[in-house]
Amino acid sequence: MIVHQYYTESQLRNFTYLLEAKDKTFWCVDPFDAGQVVSWLKNLNCKSLTGIINTHEHWDHIRGNEGLVHEFGCPIYAHQNAKGKIGGVNHFLKDNDVIEMNDGDKLVVIDTPGHTMAHLCFGHFSNDKMISVFTGDTLFNAGVGNCHNGGDPEILFETIHNRFHPLNEDVIVYPGHDYLLNNLHFTLDREPTNLKAKEWLEKANKVQEEKEKFLLTKIADEKEINTFFRLSEEEIIKNLKGDVSSEKQVFLRLRELRNKW
Ligand SMILES: [Zn+2]
Repeated sequence: MIVHQYYTESQLRNFTYLLEAKDKTFWCVDPFDAGQVVSWLKNLNCKSLTGIINTHEHWDHIRGNEGLVHEFGCPIYAHQNAKGKIGGVNHFLKDNDVIEMNDGDKLVVIDTPGHTMAHLCFGHFSNDKMISVFTGDTLFNAGVGNCHNGGDPEILFETIHNRFHPLNEDVIVYPGHDYLLNNLHFTLDREPTNLKAKEWLEKANKVQEEKEKFLLTKIADEKEINTFFRLSEEEIIKNLKGDVSSEKQVFLRLRELRNKW
């Protein structure tokens, strides 16, 4: 399966993904704009879409659904808790469900509450090895999602801790938005001596000038440059005010600060 990452030019800096199986069947993750998706498919010499996958119910991740269903008559897949929140869903998913691609690759559903309570991430497996993960608004490159609209930061902490820390270090992260630059600035604000974050900031600044190109991180990178993965770092803890008695409390303090960032 080939992953095509598209920047939507939206104000919220959304990414939409097209997943291409070897037989030229396509799936779409989080369609922001149906017209854009149709033209990308055309450029990939594809005339139809096998299905739509929504990571969660927020408007900017589902707004292309209707147009694509109208165009292709394809089914929509989303979290079982999205009943009544996302219209027209045909397949409600739960943890560990599998979506089979036509070339033997699989998307395995990871239930990831926190940003909302109907949020899923999807692990891409090829030959039983996880290659990448589609993380919606749960995990960004160098950051995590907010919990303003139907979420809970304590639950987001559990999700990051229990579902992302254990992943293999070489798993690629495909997030729902391009927030890398801002997230790196936050990391360096909290941890000014983080040299890896400085290196990534330089790279990200260069890429920003080229427009259309975006950097990808792996889980190993997240452990180095994502403040929300570095909850026991002394420098991060000593720069925080309030309860820092546990990793969860450090996460909550950081999330509060990032909300105002
Ligand atoms: Zn969202």
